[in-house]
Amino acid sequence: MVQRVTVLGATGSIGQSTLDVLSRHLDQYEVFALSGHRNLRLLAEQCAQFRPEFAVVPDDLAAVELMAALALLSPATQVLVGEDALSRIAASREVDIVMAAIVGAAGLRPTLAAANAGKKILLANKESLVVAGHLLMQAVEQGGATLLPVDSEHNAIFQCLSSPSDPAVVSVVLTASGGPFRTLPAADLVNVTPEQACAHPNWSMGQKISVDSATLMNKGLELIEACWLFDLQPSDIEVVVHPQSVIHSMVRYVDGSVIAQMGAPDMRTPIAYGLAWPERIDAGVAPLDFHALAGLTFEQADIARFPCLRLAAEAMVMGGTAPAVLNAANEETVAAFLAGDIGFMDIPRINEQVLTSSPVDPVVDVDQLLAADQAARLRARQLIEGV
Ligand code: NAD
Ligand code: MG
Repeated sequence: MVQRVTVLGATGSIGQSTLDVLSRHLDQYEVFALSGHRNLRLLAEQCAQFRPEFAVVPDDLAAVELMAALALLSPATQVLVGEDALSRIAASREVDIVMAAIVGAAGLRPTLAAANAGKKILLANKESLVVAGHLLMQAVEQGGATLLPVDSEHNAIFQCLSSPSDPAVVSVVLTASGGPFRTLPAADLVNVTPEQACAHPNWSMGQKISVDSATLMNKGLELIEACWLFDLQPSDIEVVVHPQSVIHSMVRYVDGSVIAQMGAPDMRTPIAYGLAWPERIDAGVAPLDFHALAGLTFEQADIARFPCLRLAAEAMVMGGTAPAVLNAANEETVAAFLAGDIGFMDIPRINEQVLTSSPVDPVVDVDQLLAADQAARLRARQLIEGV
């Protein structure tokens, strides 16, 4: 039977890769709805190609612009506006699969809506697990949803785990590329530019996650993500820098076996895996050429130069609202760095200040978490202004 797919964040890097995989299998999948935030021209082109029933944009101005473009390109597509509409296209009875590929905490409510509605969720939006891991996992269970990680590391772990709570698992080994500044001395990190930070050696990604990869906050967010997805403590997770990004992560077993998942660094592999699970489909990804690999190397992550990794582990141990606070601070500092308002090393410094000066409360509900998120953003912006 044809599966109907909603792609939240269709115009982003993951969204575009998702549509690329879907375009290869239109006999099996149909696009039900797409959302985009800024790049309306691309969203219009995507609607022309996939003819979704709905397209969601952030405001009325964007809706007018998109409708004008769609009058010619895809007149049957209805344009919806706002955050609630994102949740509606995620939870609609007509949808089978939801790709959660909005960046940041903005993706939380629609992802939760998909979970409550029992959808098969392909989770790229790691921030929603960082902000509300407990609530999201609970919603998945209560709603009867299936949560499949698209983040390449977590997808690898998912593939390497024989069963969810296998007592024979000793640890999970999260691999990190180390980012563009892996070998840069601490003194030089102070002066790096947004352009340098976004030039990732192996992966082509959105700007926010590119900066997160450069600060290693991405690995920190992934550590929290792994704790929720696989019911682990930070101490169950080893982080290993593996600059070639060929091994996407590993699972260590009690008998000494280590199972790794490998592949070219191309997000279409985990996306295709999620779409077809428990089967597999062609992702359009080039086969891994072992003869072209100079070698696979491993090194330790340097938390002295990249303190964000340590901060994330600390926030997870603090628990409650702490990861939401750290995530919110980081969204603000990354945006400020990209805008040229603060330096690269101000990101971990301000993140840490916000984390340590904010209250930590037990999690009650989404509104409380989003209030903590807002308060942390305010505090971060004050500190950014002081730079
Ligand atoms: P991106 O910046 O390329 O795309 C983000 C998408 O979200 C766009 O469609 C944008 O229009 C939409 N968006 C942005 N702000 C929004 C808002 N406030 N409300 C609604 N929509 C909004 O980002 P990306 O690289 O595709 O990453 C998306 C998510 O996937 C992130 O959470 C990221 O951490 C995760 N992820 C990405 C990769 C990758 O290779 N790009 C890998 C693993 C995980
Ligand atoms: Mg990842």
